[in-house]
Amino acid sequence: MKHLEIGKFDIQVVSDGNFLLDGGTMFGMLPRAIWSKFITVDQNNMFPWATHCLLVSDGKKKILIETGVGSKLNEKKRQIYGRSSENKFQKNLKLLGVSFDEIDYVVTTHLHMDHCGGFTDEENEKLKPRFPKAKYLIQKKEWNAATHPNRLTRGTYWVENFLPVFKAGQVEWLEGDAEIFPGIKVFLTGAHSEGHQVIQISSQGKTLFCPGDLIPSHWHLRQTCVCAYDLSPVGVMQEKTRWLERVMKENWILHSYHDVEMVFGRVSLEREDFVAKPLE
Ligand SMILES: [Zn+2]
Repeated sequence: MKHLEIGKFDIQVVSDGNFLLDGGTMFGMLPRAIWSKFITVDQNNMFPWATHCLLVSDGKKKILIETGVGSKLNEKKRQIYGRSSENKFQKNLKLLGVSFDEIDYVVTTHLHMDHCGGFTDEENEKLKPRFPKAKYLIQKKEWNAATHPNRLTRGTYWVENFLPVFKAGQVEWLEGDAEIFPGIKVFLTGAHSEGHQVIQISSQGKTLFCPGDLIPSHWHLRQTCVCAYDLSPVGVMQEKTRWLERVMKENWILHSYHDVEMVFGRVSLEREDFVAKPLE
């Protein structure tokens, strides 16, 4: 499913294509004997993950949720992440008849390279915000983590992704939970990254829940399936359990950003663990 209606909101999936990550890192402590039942890795132990960005519109404003890996990668990074030079996001946005300067707000769950890579573009060796008229809504806590990374986190916080939007004066700070637009709320969760947030889109009794990397794919609905990238694996387990109980009870739709098999799903409980069925 590539399109969804949540009350007044029209929601379109705008993919930035897949990128490769090491098979094991996405499953943390789960042994290969278990995760290899879900995915088949290539000869380098890599597996493709999706980037299902969302274009949300209420008929007046256009809000972009997540921006993908982007297209500024050098040759070495392109090889590592299995990316081509093609700007898939731009191509897919164009198919919807929408251009970069029509985007009013940009929000991501956090500032890792696979979420804010599309904040900026490079033109004639100069970096610039990709969306010239947009306000980029960023959690202060995540910004501080991204601009003061440690040796463990610096591999994923790429300054070329976020510094140019700050320099251009296009950042609006979020400090904790907030309603960023009537019907769209963010909730600070931390755990995956310092200032990770989840996004809830509600209108006319319907809700779409974007858990970001608390639940990057339907395989991660399993409580013990947390990424090696998580700052706090126990924190992720607790946060996702708390949110999934609500998703299930209130019959929300789940967004699965990195999932190559499912974009939107409905959640239910099977014995001890949550599972999701793709939306028809
Ligand atoms: Zn991610």
